[in-house]
Amino acid sequence: MPELPEVERAARALSKAALGKTIEVVRPIHPSLKKRLPPTKARRAKGRRIESIERRGKHQLLKLDSGDTIVVHFRMNGDWEIGSVNEPLDRFARAVIDLTDGTRISLVDRRALSTISIDREGSSSLPKLGREASDPTLDAAYLAGVLQRRKIAIKPAIMDQAVLAGLGNIYAAEALWESQIDPRSPSSSMSSETLAKLVDAIRLVLSPRNRRPGRYTEMRNRSRFAVYDREGQECHRCGGTIQRIVQAGRSTYFCPDCQKG
Ligand SMILES: [Zn+2]
Repeated sequence: MPELPEVERAARALSKAALGKTIEVVRPIHPSLKKRLPPTKARRAKGRRIESIERRGKHQLLKLDSGDTIVVHFRMNGDWEIGSVNEPLDRFARAVIDLTDGTRISLVDRRALSTISIDREGSSSLPKLGREASDPTLDAAYLAGVLQRRKIAIKPAIMDQAVLAGLGNIYAAEALWESQIDPRSPSSSMSSETLAKLVDAIRLVLSPRNRRPGRYTEMRNRSRFAVYDREGQECHRCGGTIQRIVQAGRSTYFCPDCQKG
């Protein structure tokens, strides 16, 4: 599933291929996308220049010179494939954005859950989003403020996009392991010291390239993730056994022996 680092990478690849260029056509191919973006609406993008490409949470926003914004979300499986209008379409292409220079940006998705739509100038279809999980100025005070009224456990709380935009299931579990916080702990009762550790951990797990040397980096060299998808395996920190529970309908992996915070 694309998480924040993957979406960030995709948005950068898209910028490289499309920024400043002009759209020939936006063409939804999959029926569900045609419904969301009918031809009359898709036509609004024709002849428009792509002025900026931004990421907000896991949404990619292509701002056009008309003031409209193309909004894309990869959901579970989406990705960009960048090629040329002369090449055959990928069999999993669900929508294409053809540019006037012959570049074709295909939204490919085996499961066809990705979405693409156009917001008119001044309107936004984005849900309420909190601060970016990758924001370098994110701090414990912000988290304390948004979590104090939430009567839910810390793991589903930090996955709530209105709390932190962009943090998904994998990196929420990884950050809680790194900061030794029990994912079942009530989010409203976290001390500011614990939240500061959590903020550090979120930063660490989301920035693979800037990982400081230390246990998490060493551990990721040994297995793909510290806890995610490792049910029944040994905890790299304490030798305990990783458990899987379900919270808010999603799998949570954690080590009950060393995640006590
Ligand atoms: Zn452990």
